[in-house]
Amino acid sequence: MSDWQPIARQIAGATGRPFTPRTTRNIGGGCINSATLLSDGNEHWFVKLNQASLLAMFEAESDGLTAMAETGSIRVPRPLCTGVAGGQAFIVMEYIPLGGRGARSGALAGERLAAMHRATQACFGWHRDNTIGATPQPNPQDPNWVRFWRLQRLGFQLDLAARNGYRGRLAERGALLLERLPALLDHAPKPSLLHGDLWGGNMGIADDGSPVIFDPACYFGDREADIAMTELFGGFGADFHAAYTAAWPLDAGYPTRKVLYNLYHVINHLNLFGGGYRRQAEAMIDQLLAQLE
Ligand code: ADP
Repeated sequence: MSDWQPIARQIAGATGRPFTPRTTRNIGGGCINSATLLSDGNEHWFVKLNQASLLAMFEAESDGLTAMAETGSIRVPRPLCTGVAGGQAFIVMEYIPLGGRGARSGALAGERLAAMHRATQACFGWHRDNTIGATPQPNPQDPNWVRFWRLQRLGFQLDLAARNGYRGRLAERGALLLERLPALLDHAPKPSLLHGDLWGGNMGIADDGSPVIFDPACYFGDREADIAMTELFGGFGADFHAAYTAAWPLDAGYPTRKVLYNLYHVINHLNLFGGGYRRQAEAMIDQLLAQLE
């Protein structure tokens, strides 16, 4: 974007202070959106842009950041405003320089994530749908976790995979797994506020060493789904896991549920990127079904 004035006006409107950006800097690393630091030398704002039709995605991201911030646990960027300007959807949030290091950062992340997961409600789901990567993520509220995971998570991605042409073995074994879910999810989790997309690329360290999480796909679910994802692509060290489990031990049977929860993200990757994720998903389903024989 070359003309930042419409967004600058929205920022000024939201803060009640004049804002005239003097510098802009592209911030790489984002998977989905273009990201820019907007600064007047005094205030610094992190802005993500995408096509106008994706405004709801940014509104849901803003709600997720607010929900996590309200728990007062782990640091997240405070959202400022969302909207459409110059034909593009935008979200503006607090800019947090993320190049910090700290000997205790991993442990703090574990402790503070456990504190965030203490925020619970009666039902699984959320007050609105959102996205996981670029894929829709439905969140209708349901007191039954097995049904929620079957319909809104695994079943939803398997249906999408079938529509994308991934049928055959994945669909057959996937359907069998959906039938057997009650035997795999028998630990009665509470609906905890989850980040929902907690891979290593969505956590950073602020200058003061405090961990920051961002780019969420929030909903209320089994907290083990967040922990499982931290183990899927790496990036969270042993300190993180030790501190998390010291603050709130995982239930017996977690290693099996980890596979079940990460299967959702692997099928989502199949739907987004195709290729080798199909074999990985099938192997995970086989592993889970083998546990039940
Ligand atoms: P995308 O939605 O495109 O995946 P992200 O929200 O992950 O984008 O942000 C892209 C990158 O920008 C991140 O990897 C991180 O390094 C950095 N970043 C994200 N949020 C902030 C923020 N509030 N302040 C500073 N840098 C941020």
